[in-house]
Amino acid sequence: MSTIYHFTGAWDDKNLLGNKGANLVAMTKLRLTVPPGFAVSVETYKEYKRTGKLPEEEIKQALEALEKQTRKKLGKGLSVSVRSSAAASMPGMMDTVLDVRDREAMLSAIKKVFDSWDNPRAVEYRRLNNIPADMGTAAIIQAMVFGDLDGNSGTGVMFTRNPSTGEKVLFGEYITEAKGEDLVSGRKTPQTMDALKSQMPDMYAQLEEVASILENHFRDMQDVEFTIESGKLYILQTRSGKRGGRASVKIAVEMAKEGFISRQEALLRVSAEDVRSFLHRRIEHVEKYQAIASGLGAAPGATSGKVVFNTLDAVAAMKRNERVILVRPETSPDDILGVSAAMGVLTSRGGLTSHAAIVTRAMGKPCICGAEEMKIDLHAEKFEVNSHTVNKGDIITIDGSAGKVYLGDLPLTEAEGSPELAELLTWADSFRRLRVKANADTVETVALARKFGAEGIGLCRTERQFTGEERLSAIRAFILAETPEQRAEALVLLHKLQKKDFMAIFRELEGMPIIIRLLDLPLHEFLPSEAETTDPELKRRIRELRETNPMLGHRGVRVAVTYPEIYQMQIDAIADACAEVNCDVSIMVPQVVTSQELLWVKRMVKDRGVKFGVMMETVRACMRAGRLAQVADFFSFGTNDLTQAVYSFSREDVEKKFLSIYLDAGILQDNPFLILDVKGVGRLMETAITWARREKKELDIGVCGEHGGEPRSIMFFHTAGVDSVSCSPFRIPIAKLAAAQGAILDSQIAAARSKLRPLG
Ligand code: ADP
Ligand code: MG
Ligand code: MG
Repeated sequence: MSTIYHFTGAWDDKNLLGNKGANLVAMTKLRLTVPPGFAVSVETYKEYKRTGKLPEEEIKQALEALEKQTRKKLGKGLSVSVRSSAAASMPGMMDTVLDVRDREAMLSAIKKVFDSWDNPRAVEYRRLNNIPADMGTAAIIQAMVFGDLDGNSGTGVMFTRNPSTGEKVLFGEYITEAKGEDLVSGRKTPQTMDALKSQMPDMYAQLEEVASILENHFRDMQDVEFTIESGKLYILQTRSGKRGGRASVKIAVEMAKEGFISRQEALLRVSAEDVRSFLHRRIEHVEKYQAIASGLGAAPGATSGKVVFNTLDAVAAMKRNERVILVRPETSPDDILGVSAAMGVLTSRGGLTSHAAIVTRAMGKPCICGAEEMKIDLHAEKFEVNSHTVNKGDIITIDGSAGKVYLGDLPLTEAEGSPELAELLTWADSFRRLRVKANADTVETVALARKFGAEGIGLCRTERQFTGEERLSAIRAFILAETPEQRAEALVLLHKLQKKDFMAIFRELEGMPIIIRLLDLPLHEFLPSEAETTDPELKRRIRELRETNPMLGHRGVRVAVTYPEIYQMQIDAIADACAEVNCDVSIMVPQVVTSQELLWVKRMVKDRGVKFGVMMETVRACMRAGRLAQVADFFSFGTNDLTQAVYSFSREDVEKKFLSIYLDAGILQDNPFLILDVKGVGRLMETAITWARREKKELDIGVCGEHGGEPRSIMFFHTAGVDSVSCSPFRIPIAKLAAAQGAILDSQIAAARSKLRPLG
């Protein structure tokens, strides 16, 4: 194993050279003008860490080779930088030593860079980003170039495409007669690439050429550091650029169209977070408000909160569950916890490539940078701008898309999609096998579901149809009826109301199929509390219906066994509505534990052409899946209740009392109510699916719990052979993407497997 890797060599192992080093080698091979140099390997760092010693002789020889290459001696014409280079990108976390002019200084600089692997900032960054502590860093020794030499010199950072919008134009910042650190620190306010274009058109053309070479090679948008020394361009670093969600979608789609990547790869590159950013909020009727300050829109979206001026206050506020905006002249890597605790960030200095901008974009929170009119007084904890004074604790709203700051808590609205997102989702449609439906129980949500591209309503709850004064009094009349006549009368009214509701919903479907779940609530939920009434008869009835544990009590299909009239009324209302408004309707029975319950309800459906299925949400239903499949046309897993049942966890109590402790202690890895527990609940589902399909191969199987809109869970449902998921309308784009990703990864794994040759 070698210690030294010259840029001119043929190596590319990130684990030895680090990311920066490997890319410097790649760029040298691409014949870009990279100042010459070499990497001292990660292995050497590990040896140094064990022994405290550097391989002096090898480093001396490498330096001599560099002197030969540049035809200059160190200290006499040659000066070098010593840079860190880890396999995982850790921007600005470790030390860089610039302008080293003698051997002694260079050895100690290498040690300084190696030692900075363990500085507190780097340690904290690794912890937040799950980077292993023993990964280690290489050191890069590189000939210096000077951006502050003369008027024809300067330094800049550019993205090969716009990291907020994804537009294919060079985007970045440039300062004439300056060194790199002037840019990164935000101490000098830089010029845009457009200014560079008009001042040095030839240089701009060269940068465009560099951008195209780099994108061709790395097949991704790049973040490039460059320096111009007396009119000559040098490239100092390149890496994949961090980008906002909108940009991520646009870049993935356009790169696929430009032929850099396949459609599958484009789909895999976009994350659920990226798609979620299309739901970025905006200020409602923004024209009505007067901004108090403006700066650069550094990370998109609008948010509001109380002003705080330091990381400690931001973190303390987060613990109190308060929304805050972190206001600083500029942020540094030391503020990382404050940024992550805040809803958004506002700085008075620095540009679109400053620390605050990069970090917030990655976190998906709004940020405004370089609002220069603001005078921030960190000691008095206030800022002044255009005759306004804003103190610590005052509420402001920031719009990170437009770069505007407003006083007060302004009303916000959701944002809309983009043509590229629409196109990406049609690609997702061509790869995914899972159908994506929506949960909806009102005309409005059905309309929303259609707007977001739902392929049906996977869960229409009927509880809501019993709210409102008229309906509540009708169901109460039914529960409290003393004679069969009174009961029948109440049912006639309920039937009429329900039929009307269903007809309205069916009209809104415009051809989409719908699964309606029969009543699931225990009856006493419809009665007032005992204290609310003085009527002794009502009090008696309320006491009679009271349950010790209603979640496990007289609810769902169990009510239909004791009061068949209610389910009969609902089934009749659905069938009658369907007779008037043609519709592909399925009826689903909740809380089933045995096929006998299902047969009981099936008798009420008679032969009326509606499909009939079971909500799989009890453990026994899963264990009897084969038998249930004989009776049902379809299954839909209700993964919320099923998770409660498998864990014997009551969700509310668990989330309130101890779940966070379980997660912190690593006893549980994820909240099983948010991310499906594949090892427990998932295994039970797989077993049930296998048994059910053995009985009925064509049985349609869906998932309608909250997990139906969660990306990781969706990938599992794909693999488990589920046919459809149902989620909130807003999550449909995310669910479609995840379903496509699951299918693509599955086929990639299958393809890789088919290439493996059997052993022996
Ligand atoms: P980081 O990994 O924190 O980005 P770098 O290794 O990129 O640190 O170094 C920080 C800055 O130092 C660079 O952005 C550049 O401005 C400057 N720098 C590093 N090496 C050189 C060099 N050979 N010539 C001129 N400037 C350099
Ligand atoms: Mg750098
Ligand atoms: Mg349920």
